[in-house]
Order: sequence, then structure tokens, then C-alpha cells
Amino acid sequence: MDLTTLKNRIERGEEYLLALEESRSREWREILAEYDGGRLALPQAMALVHPDFYKERETEVGQSIRGPRRFSTTASRPVAGCMADRIWLSACPLENLYDVHADHLFPYSLGGPTLAENQLFLCPVHNRAKASDIHLFPWELGEPDWLRRQVDRIRNLLL
Ligand SMILES: [Zn+2]
Repeated sequence: MDLTTLKNRIERGEEYLLALEESRSREWREILAEYDGGRLALPQAMALVHPDFYKERETEVGQSIRGPRRFSTTASRPVAGCMADRIWLSACPLENLYDVHADHLFPYSLGGPTLAENQLFLCPVHNRAKASDIHLFPWELGEPDWLRRQVDRIRNLLL
């Protein structure tokens, strides 16, 4: 296991949580302008999709921005087993013992969408271990493909 990577994730997770806290006292549009101008990178940019910032508007337009809470289990059975290696950087030793379940890589509770790009399959043991711990998010993979699309969806609803 690569401890440097894990330490880095923990640090970036802390940065994200701080950015999230700070963004609560700011206008969403202001933060958006920084993102559009290329002055806001990860992990701070992820605060733009936090549910706090669009919950009210979401109710108003009667439309979910994140998509359903859960992934469809029938349509998305995994080809491989538990994808614990995406998070813990080593293969799951239990993958033949359990059924795997679809979960959000970037937690739903923090604005992670129910989209294939944000989906990973974990055995029950790793699913419980992961929970919604942002410190385990693989920030080193860069900005996820879905972030820009989610920001645009929120932008269209808010502005
Ligand atoms: Zn596992």
C-alpha cells in the first residue's frame, strides 16, 4: 500500500472540508466565477456541487440534480468484483465471498451524482469501511468528468 498517496488523500480531504465550510458564507455565483476563470481547482472546486447550495432551488424546480439516491442494481451488475483497489490501492481479498453493491465514489451526501462515472462496486465489508469518508476519495486522479456537467446543471437551474 502506498502510504504517501493515502496521506495526500487525507490532506486533500481536509482541504475540501475547509473549502466547504468557507463556501457556506459566500455566494455560489462568486465561487462559480472563480471556477470558470480557472482560479478554482480541486479539492475546492468540489464544494460547488454540495447539496446545500442548490437544495432550495431543487425543491422549487421539482427536479433532482444529483439523480436518484441509489444506483439501479439490475442495470449495472459489475463485470469484476469488489473495486476496493480504487480506494485502498490493493485488491479485495474477499471478492469471491460476497456480492458487490454499487456505491458512489464521491459521496452522494456531498453532491456526488448517481452517474456511471461516479459508481464503483464494493463488497459489503469495503462498502461499510468506505461509508462517506471524504478522506478516502482519490483526489490524485484529477477532476472527475462529471464535475463540469453537474456545475452546468446547477448553473442552469440557479441562474
Ligand atoms: Zn471488498
